[in-house]
Amino acid sequence: MADTSQPFTGHVKLIDNDFLAIDDLFSKTSGLCVTGSSGEWECNYRENHSPQDKEDYPNLLLCTSWTYWVSLEYGPCPETIDAGDSTGGGTSIGDGDTGGGGTGSGGASTVPTKPCDGGTNNIEGKNNIEDDNGDCLEDLGKRKECKKITDFINASENQAFKNKLTELSGQPNLNLDKEKSVSSFENETALDERIGTADNPSVAIQSNPTNKYKAFVHTHPNIGDGTLSVFSPTDLTEIARIINNGKITNGFVAFLTTKKGTQYALTINNPTKFVDLFYSQLFDNVSDVMGDPVQALQNKDRFYASQEAYQPLFKEYFDPKNPNVKIKNTDTEPEDVLKEFLNFMDEADAGFTLFDASSTQFGESSFTSFRKIRLKNGEIERDYTCN
Ligand SMILES: [Zn+2]
Repeated sequence: MADTSQPFTGHVKLIDNDFLAIDDLFSKTSGLCVTGSSGEWECNYRENHSPQDKEDYPNLLLCTSWTYWVSLEYGPCPETIDAGDSTGGGTSIGDGDTGGGGTGSGGASTVPTKPCDGGTNNIEGKNNIEDDNGDCLEDLGKRKECKKITDFINASENQAFKNKLTELSGQPNLNLDKEKSVSSFENETALDERIGTADNPSVAIQSNPTNKYKAFVHTHPNIGDGTLSVFSPTDLTEIARIINNGKITNGFVAFLTTKKGTQYALTINNPTKFVDLFYSQLFDNVSDVMGDPVQALQNKDRFYASQEAYQPLFKEYFDPKNPNVKIKNTDTEPEDVLKEFLNFMDEADAGFTLFDASSTQFGESSFTSFRKIRLKNGEIERDYTCN
């Protein structure tokens, strides 16, 4: 543990995530200056007090690591400071309205947002950052993916699908030696239900249906010497194929329920990044992507970049031929697997978000509440509940 009794001076590493992309942070600063900052300590026992306050807060003795959360406030730059990449002193270049010299405003948000109101919008125990329009940035980033799930789950038209989530999570279905899937499409009330075969127990779902997928769920049941407690690389590749065919809605959610007692939901926060990683897996050969003369070179580059990124990740995390592989279908500790899957997600940076969907492994009813999962200081953190 570092000496936390002294003020910190130095550099901090920014980690890009789906709450607040670094690109967004920098575009946010275009035309704006940091006008103020505040911060607070948080230890891994969730005590929001400085390490120096141990006498007053005995629980602090339980803490083994500390994070200092920093909030920055942005505002118009002083006239003497050149704002961003402008050519004239103090004139901002942004995608918002530009005023006279020395004033600037942030780009208009394209997503409806709310202020950090100290109530339900806020993330407990965190400083909530508002932008210059009074929109809650943390709320905006964090809740956006959550909202896809709650919007889908709360819509009465999806009740039949919700019943299927429960049905597929029951033992009769999870004890089968074949996978099952249920898909829901935009502008269709009928659900598409499928089951694997004796020859191929994996369920095949449509990669290019007429209407876009709103959601699908599939099972990892009782096949052979066990199935994965998390999404498989094949699952992710098939989702990429569907995205590449333009067949997911903006609010798309993939649900998974497994024999190991895990239930997860997955959303796509950046479809381009997601397809980028799996692109080479969608085709047998690079020549398959070069048919269109206009796109040929670009597609070829995308294919090889994908191969370069995907192959080492697959080998490290999923390849059954690798004796040191980190995730196996025979693993019996879902939390260890989850931690490795989150490591994979961090390394892959592939634009998707994972949620715990109230795991039956913890005695909860499946798919009743949704918590964002991420790695924090190398450990699994089940974040705030979406609903
Ligand atoms: Zn699967």
